[in-house]
Amino acid sequence: MSRRLAADTLVLASHNPKKIRELEGLLAGSGIEVRSARDLGLAEPDETAPDFGGNATIKAMAAAAATGLPCLADDSGLSVDGLDGAPGVRSARWAGPEQDYPAAMARIREALAARFGSFAAADKRAAFSTVICLAWPDGECLYFEGRVDGTLVETPRGEGGFGYDPMFVPDGESRTMAELTPAEKDALSHRGRAMRAFAAACLPER
Ligand code: IMP
Repeated sequence: MSRRLAADTLVLASHNPKKIRELEGLLAGSGIEVRSARDLGLAEPDETAPDFGGNATIKAMAAAAATGLPCLADDSGLSVDGLDGAPGVRSARWAGPEQDYPAAMARIREALAARFGSFAAADKRAAFSTVICLAWPDGECLYFEGRVDGTLVETPRGEGGFGYDPMFVPDGESRTMAELTPAEKDALSHRGRAMRAFAAACLPER
């Protein structure tokens, strides 16, 4: 499905500065003026849906209703095989109100060790997934998905990226996602993949 933005302003329906920076980077050079819900002071809706698509819809539609502009929201998370897919849609909540990711990564390590006897013995396969929703002010929504598979490491490494990046090694890499440059992360990340599908369907043709 496609419906193209023209000389539009696109609102990024996020309050996460690092996620906004990644999305802005992925839209650089598109000719679209980009604003964020954070800059516009929009309220953050409660993410009450049971899945990424539902929460992306809640965020994108709330911002489109508030601004009258097309709005793009990403809902994403880390799903760990050995934890039956947790934290998944609850990834941000595992970091608590302070968004403490060292603590959230420790919680994953401890949960795996508790289930498998030790972290070394655990099923450490995991994936980052995202659903991106583009909501138009008339209520139409378009969806784009992305996923990257990988393996968790016990000791987080790297200063780049955000969230759970320091404990996730994408397949085909020896570095964690936080040790990649921003361009390297975009090339293989869940968000980069979904944004390329969005760009092909919705950005002005050049
Ligand atoms: P959301 O902003 O409500 O979609 O929450 C996303 C959650 O998944 C946050 O806890 C993020 O830290 C985590 N997450 C999503 N994408 C990434 C990523 O690219 N790297 C690391 N963590 C991510």
